[in-house]
Amino acid sequence: MSGNNKIHEVVKWPDPVLAKPGEKVTVFDAKLKKLVDEMFDSMYAAQGIGLAAPQIAISKRITVIDVSFKKNPEERIALINPEIIAREGKQVEEEGCLSLPEIREKVSRAAKVKVKAQNVSGEWFEVEGEELLARAMQHEIDHLDGVLFIDRLSRLKRDLVIRKIKKLIKNGEW
Ligand SMILES: [Zn+2]
Repeated sequence: MSGNNKIHEVVKWPDPVLAKPGEKVTVFDAKLKKLVDEMFDSMYAAQGIGLAAPQIAISKRITVIDVSFKKNPEERIALINPEIIAREGKQVEEEGCLSLPEIREKVSRAAKVKVKAQNVSGEWFEVEGEELLARAMQHEIDHLDGVLFIDRLSRLKRDLVIRKIKKLIKNGEW
């Protein structure tokens, strides 16, 4: 990476951009490539393994994932206009989100998924993932639909989490 990419600030709940479905990407140009590079750098700067464009206040269907966190360049994936085309099994693991710092809860997800997406040049490709990669892709694609992991908790759990966040906001700790 060039090292002079802009690092975008990650917006936190309850920023309304997080609840808004992202717009489909239709232009695959140098600007998009630059944005994707900036998203990877912003994700690494925030110590994350996944970042969706709405999390940097850009309401578009773009997400970047690297479950190896820089260890394996092959695991660096940018998904543009992604869609889950197959799901299998079930996994229940703790999940976190850069837009919900400190909050970790168990979320039920498919164990394996197959995703169809476009790359930065607009070419369609497919990627299959299980375990952490499957979880990351489901979490990030949810962001593109305006869905956060706390929206996948029981009503009671979600209310408890929101009460906790509101308290943190009130104390100026959010
Ligand atoms: Zn997230």
